[in-house]
Amino acid sequence: MNIYDSDRMADILATDGYSRTHEVENADLVILNTCHIREKAAEKVYSELGRLRKNNKPMVAVAGCVAQAEGEEVIRRAPNVDLVVGPQTYHRLPELLRNVNQNKNSVDIDFPLETKFSKLPPPNKRGASAFLTIQEGCDKFCAFCVVPYTRGAEYSRPVREIISEAELLVESGAREITLLGQNVNAYHGCSGGLAELIRNLDTIEGLDRIRYTTSHPNDVSDNLIAAHGEVSSLMPYLHLPVQSGSNSILKKMNRRHVIKDYENIIKRLRAVRPDLALSSDFIVGHPGETEEDFEETISLIKRVNFAQAYSFKYSARPGTPAAKLTDQVSEAVKVERLRRLQELVGLQQLEYNKQFVGKNMPVLLDRIGRKHGQLAGRTPYNQAVHVRISDHFNQNDLLGEIVMVYVEAARPSSLSASLF
Ligand code: SAH
Ligand code: SF4
Repeated sequence: MNIYDSDRMADILATDGYSRTHEVENADLVILNTCHIREKAAEKVYSELGRLRKNNKPMVAVAGCVAQAEGEEVIRRAPNVDLVVGPQTYHRLPELLRNVNQNKNSVDIDFPLETKFSKLPPPNKRGASAFLTIQEGCDKFCAFCVVPYTRGAEYSRPVREIISEAELLVESGAREITLLGQNVNAYHGCSGGLAELIRNLDTIEGLDRIRYTTSHPNDVSDNLIAAHGEVSSLMPYLHLPVQSGSNSILKKMNRRHVIKDYENIIKRLRAVRPDLALSSDFIVGHPGETEEDFEETISLIKRVNFAQAYSFKYSARPGTPAAKLTDQVSEAVKVERLRRLQELVGLQQLEYNKQFVGKNMPVLLDRIGRKHGQLAGRTPYNQAVHVRISDHFNQNDLLGEIVMVYVEAARPSSLSASLF
């Protein structure tokens, strides 16, 4: 979502004459679009701000969830910051920049009643694979999580606004759109929810691939499960975070479901789409997590068999209920559990990827690769693929195309393939 928001900030600033540069030395303005989800991400902002101070004087803005959570405190800790803007008000960037020049208030962390979306200009060109935010905020209040405080209450964009943004993206070359939301399947912009929206988007000509992230097990509707079996542009990959395999930890986390519910959803999804690739997030060392609780997470992972997974050490976040609990897990135990979990998941990912070696796969080539003669893209199952292309192809002709490539090798988080 931060990538989407950063692109939208660039869209609005383009109307003010700004263009993008990848070199800090060339920048008149540097915006750090920040994340507050774990302490490490939040602290990175201040080390980055320290680096910018040495780099003499572009104007510096801090945007995103650290801005939202800390407000003026950001400027107190890092006086080289000129402007602080939260995720809900970045459409006001041009005005805030003018305020900086006139020494007026340049901290904006409002939650305005009218959303930013209607104030933003149409998106500029995004490439073959584009993000589109359809839902923001969260009302679930998991005990460990800052999102409900930094992103505010759930909000769903109207269907027509989403469809017209999607059409513009496709016109400018997008073949794939990933629908974004903190709880994307809690989307309620129409009576049929996310599934109805997906079925609508499926009718856009030229939009070959639809994905969505991140979803919550409690909002997986019957309609959404059915869509996975029926909508051909809906890709066979689902990121459905479970966080823990222990019912007592899920309870402490305030996730409001049990493991059986999660496994039932997966069973039903696999019944309509047997090749569905599954992914999850896991937190290790949540307050109160015993060795037995952790073993239950390991055994859930073994039962489900994930194609991908993201795992994190629990990080106590200011203002959240879990941070106040007294049974915090030691850092050493968290490190050790994370290592064990990642070892298992790494093996599963490798086994998953290996089954594609020696096969042809349709890959959306959306990036020039790092090495000469290479392009990069994704399979329907969201595997990253590095594709070696033979000399008789022109790289730029292939960029943005879906092509069949031959898979030669598998690693835990990517495939190597060739196109001759
Ligand atoms: N809405 C999504 C998650 C959004 S946050 C959901 O409910 O699944 C993305 C991920 O960050 C979470 O899935 C969780 O695994 C991780 N995360 C959130 N807060 C965290 C914390 N305090 N410590 C460690 N990981 C955390
Ligand atoms: Fe955070 Fe997701 Fe829980 Fe909302 S549902 S509080 S975003 S982890």
